[in-house]
Amino acid sequence: MHDLGSLLKQVSARHSHLCPRQVLGVRMALAGASLLGFDLPRSDKAMLVIAETDGCFLDGLEVATGVTPGHRTLRIEDYGKIAATFVAVNSSQAIRLAPQSNVREEAYRYAPGENRHYFAQLHGYQIMPDEELFTASWVNLSPSVDQIISRPGVRTRCKSCGEEIINQREVLVAGEPFCRACIGQAYYGLQFPVEVLQPKQVGV
Ligand SMILES: [Zn+2]
Ligand SMILES: [Zn+2]
Repeated sequence: MHDLGSLLKQVSARHSHLCPRQVLGVRMALAGASLLGFDLPRSDKAMLVIAETDGCFLDGLEVATGVTPGHRTLRIEDYGKIAATFVAVNSSQAIRLAPQSNVREEAYRYAPGENRHYFAQLHGYQIMPDEELFTASWVNLSPSVDQIISRPGVRTRCKSCGEEIINQREVLVAGEPFCRACIGQAYYGLQFPVEVLQPKQVGV
């Protein structure tokens, strides 16, 4: 069995606080991994976790599972949701967990005498049974887990900007590779190029 207390201590040390979302991250990690039959924490790449937000919740997931973006075992699809999908890479089985819609109210039942909702959640989430905390559904990944992980060492160059693209993230247009930015999926708008890289070009 996992020592919830020690996991919560580790995750709170990252932030100098322990909050309800960290608890949900740890609890969701334990529940998701056990539904797939994985022991935690992982130091291999057998389990992939796709989280639907960043922040405290994500720290809970990381600490309990051992997955990290650096090992390519943790990804963020930022939907702004406290939810995550746990994937068994070899079998492509994937299960998505999210909090029950009434989880905040239910937390009070597990924190008798506590009428501050933050603390009711903080304590309630630690002891509520998995099925009262979370919904869970088997899901199909799109793109597939093979496409997400892709083949190591693959690289190409964008036909438009010339920048290198790794991990098969190029988009083929008429058979030619383009980066997502050049086909209109950029998260930024280009202002103007920097001519010479030196600090303090723009006054602060
Ligand atoms: Zn927090
Ligand atoms: Zn490009």
